[in-house]
Amino acid sequence: MATKKATKALPIAAAEMIEVFGAREHNLKNIDISIPKNKLVVFTGVSGSGKSSLAFDTIYNEGQRRYMESFSAYARQFVGDMERPDVDKITGLSPVISIEQKTTNKNPRSTVGTITEIYDFLRLLYARVGEAYSYNTGKKMVKFSEEEIVQSVYKKYANKKISLLAPLVRGRKGHYRELFEDIRKKGFLKVRVDGEVLDLVPRMQVDRYKVHDIEVVVDRLQVTDDMKFRLSQSVQRTLQMGKDLLFILVNDDKELAQYSKQLMCIDTGISYEEPSPNAFSFNSPYGACPVCKGLGTVYQIDMDAIIPDNTLTVKAGGIAPLGEEREAFTYKQVVGIAKKYKIALDKPIKDLPTKALNVLLYGKETIDEVAVSTEVDMDMEQPSENFYQTEYEGVVTMVKRWFTASTSSESVREWAEQFMKLSTCQSCAGTRLRKESLWFKIDEKNIADISNMDLDVLFNWFEKLEKRLNAKQNTIAKDLLKEIRERLSFLINVGLTYLTLYRPSKSLSGGEYQRIRLATQIGSQLQGITYILDEPSIGLHQRDNTRLITALQNLRDIGNSVLVVEHDKDIMLAADHLIDIGPKAGTYGGTVVAAGTPAEVLASGSETAKYLKGEKWIPIPKEVRKGNGAFIELKGATGNNLKNVSVQLPLGKMILVTGVSGSGKSTLVNETLYPLLATHCYNSKGAAMPYKSISGLAHVDKVIEIDQSPIGRTPRSNPATYCGFFTDIRTLFAAVPEAKIRGYNAGRFSFNVKSGRCEVCEGGGMRTIEMNFLPDVYVHCEKCNGKRYNRETLEIRYKGKSISDVLDMTVDTAVEFFNAVPFIYRKIKVLQEVGLGYITLGQSAVTLSGGEAQRVKLATELGKRDTGKTFYILDEPTTGLHFEDIQHLLDVLNKLVDRGNTVMVIEHNLDMIKVADHIIDIGPEGGSGGGKVLYQGEPKGMLNVKESFTAIYLKEEFKLAEKLRKK
Ligand code: ADP
Ligand code: ADP
Ligand code: ZN
Ligand code: ZN
Repeated sequence: MATKKATKALPIAAAEMIEVFGAREHNLKNIDISIPKNKLVVFTGVSGSGKSSLAFDTIYNEGQRRYMESFSAYARQFVGDMERPDVDKITGLSPVISIEQKTTNKNPRSTVGTITEIYDFLRLLYARVGEAYSYNTGKKMVKFSEEEIVQSVYKKYANKKISLLAPLVRGRKGHYRELFEDIRKKGFLKVRVDGEVLDLVPRMQVDRYKVHDIEVVVDRLQVTDDMKFRLSQSVQRTLQMGKDLLFILVNDDKELAQYSKQLMCIDTGISYEEPSPNAFSFNSPYGACPVCKGLGTVYQIDMDAIIPDNTLTVKAGGIAPLGEEREAFTYKQVVGIAKKYKIALDKPIKDLPTKALNVLLYGKETIDEVAVSTEVDMDMEQPSENFYQTEYEGVVTMVKRWFTASTSSESVREWAEQFMKLSTCQSCAGTRLRKESLWFKIDEKNIADISNMDLDVLFNWFEKLEKRLNAKQNTIAKDLLKEIRERLSFLINVGLTYLTLYRPSKSLSGGEYQRIRLATQIGSQLQGITYILDEPSIGLHQRDNTRLITALQNLRDIGNSVLVVEHDKDIMLAADHLIDIGPKAGTYGGTVVAAGTPAEVLASGSETAKYLKGEKWIPIPKEVRKGNGAFIELKGATGNNLKNVSVQLPLGKMILVTGVSGSGKSTLVNETLYPLLATHCYNSKGAAMPYKSISGLAHVDKVIEIDQSPIGRTPRSNPATYCGFFTDIRTLFAAVPEAKIRGYNAGRFSFNVKSGRCEVCEGGGMRTIEMNFLPDVYVHCEKCNGKRYNRETLEIRYKGKSISDVLDMTVDTAVEFFNAVPFIYRKIKVLQEVGLGYITLGQSAVTLSGGEAQRVKLATELGKRDTGKTFYILDEPTTGLHFEDIQHLLDVLNKLVDRGNTVMVIEHNLDMIKVADHIIDIGPEGGSGGGKVLYQGEPKGMLNVKESFTAIYLKEEFKLAEKLRKK
């Protein structure tokens, strides 16, 4: 008892802590903090409170900087010195690795298999234990040693007269004069050319334009006992000349048998080279499908884009790449061709005969064919008829040429690309590999088959593999199997059961990518690292949270410090140490509100604690909205894993789409519904995944996807420009008397055009410093000191403030400042209403977090007058949001719905799911085990749906709400 107490009271030695002194990065208020090492530490707090500023911008950056400092001066000159984060001192920091969500990997050659290295082990496995089959017959290939060949021939052809042939040419064109001369000089007497045995004569040659098979007859002999030595000598010689291949001709040259030291198909003679691991790599010329070069997809002409509307005439632009009738070389050619073949350019395209249309599209090749049946107009003017016969290539051919020609400029290629579409490569059926590589099998499966299995299915296959392999294979495969299984199990442990090894990295969501990185880090078994993660729970269903927590603890238990920025309740409670940053966002945050074990933080009475303890909660509405009675009905969706899904979307409601990760939510909403709505509303060329029918689109006239992507890619965009009120503010400044006297117009106050801005930074206020292979760094402009404008412009003041001062105001300040100018006030006020009171009007787009960017977009929507027929789509909007923020977000979304619009949200967060008017639950599992609609209707009805994992958690939430309501 006494000892236990003593242990508890023992202070943790300083060396076991990461100590941060005087952190002031961004909004951090000169804070000191101690973070226990080798523990799972969770940072929480409302969005914008300063969690990332502490975890990433201070701790991670300092770790990186120290790492860079360890480079030689020589290496550093290429990297540049990293700026020190604004912090006095950090002690006890071990090397840092951040496991981020960014899927920066846009390389089409990168897949789940390659980034986890599992595919590298698989390639080795297939090269070592794969069995070859003939692509001609599907039968197993065989392979002989020289000794085996001699034995076999000796037995099989006992007492027969045979010829031993060495193949020299296989199916190739040429006259082969030199070859014949060469072998004749070596003393050989006969050759077999295209199946016929001939005497070798001087100046022998064959038709150079035909393909030939040529073998030299190395020996003819009777297979008897006393010939055994000669036979083995000749076999050896033949194999040498025939590069490991040998043919036997028997029965008066009528019957041919083939032997090979390589893998060979006994029936058809084709042979494969000994497989190397590269033969299974789609990133190597030895393994890649020659047609798509290992990408699995090829660009093809998209006829729907070439002729988007066949009721238009050619003249009116019916053939899109041609455009409308105009003075252009290609168009003149078309007019000439049309005249020649009597093609009516002023008739709707649908009324043109197919042959005529083909002439225009494909040109020369079909012209001759048409010419037979079409009278040629002899009155045709210049240029000569010959010109068209040879020069007119056709629109499709032209587009293709411009798309592929290496001489095309980037803009030409981009222009051509709009008429092309990416489709599965026919040659390899999307497997990316060359034919031969696909005929190596293990347990009847080739490497593409297993790369297309869901990871959990693949894992099971590997679990049973040993029993299916023979002893020799098992010996070779033992270590490989261990490596593969281990890596697979890490991926499964972080909930990625539904991915496949072939899944392209660029198609992964941020959360999926992060969890793969987490799994690979656990696999690497590094120790003494400080890992920093940003919301690893994103995209993960409540059901898989336990697995994720175990994975994080696993990383810790190997001997690492694991720092996690997170809002998920379970993960907070599972932390060894919880740090609550706040109390609010921006300037109202940046301090440590509470820190300690979860129990200690719970006792602190902070906002986070109140939510965790259930003292504050988001209530479940008593009634769901009735909607406006209209529906969109989608039937028979089959994209990715969807199993003929049909859904009814009640309009004027808040619709939540739920289900475990990989169940098919994005496929349904982002890949199928959104493109259909966009095509309907904007006539955009959306490629929806397959479906049978859709109805009710007429009830919607606008569809808006609100995601967390930045509101602009450059530091020049900011909330003021994005929401549009900066134009109004500039007009206001131009109306100031002093501005009028000087003749300044609104343009003078733009930092994007010459005249009023600082020319050193061109109005950016910052200068960009490019850092070879690190991200760009921005520093304040030394001329204007970050104010963006020149001195004259800054002299104009409205209510005592310059235009630059206004850009530096927080939204909260600006609301007060502009309260007398209604049209500006209104738009800024909505920013405040969505909880962004703390950001500044001119805050650079690149510094806004995903959640902040999303709310700026929502605010812009709220600021608009809408028709009430808008369809909003959001994918996990709670990313980066604390409970408090979620309440803000819900308020905004509710407003949109209350105005008659429809909001559709993909979400795992129960605080959002429980307030839905309508839920569509997809599952039950991820990948092939999912893709079915388990429930659609009001939340209450879902609680008892047996198969649904979401229902289990929602039920708890409803129970809790009931309890709280009674309190
Ligand atoms: P959290 O991670 O808690 O959401 P952040 O640490 O990202 O919060 O942000 C804290 C505050 O600092 C916010 O007001 C945010 O807008 C601001 N901020 C973040 N990055 C930058 C930056 N690069 N420059 C200026 N302000 C920033
Ligand atoms: P959710 O949004 O519910 O997490 P998704 O719609 O993203 O699920 O995925 C459903 C299934 O489709 C999963 O098995 C997933 O691996 C597969 N999938 C999704 N996107 C792609 C893609 N680009 N290529 C191949 N398979 C995909
Ligand atoms: Zn291919
Ligand atoms: Zn400047």
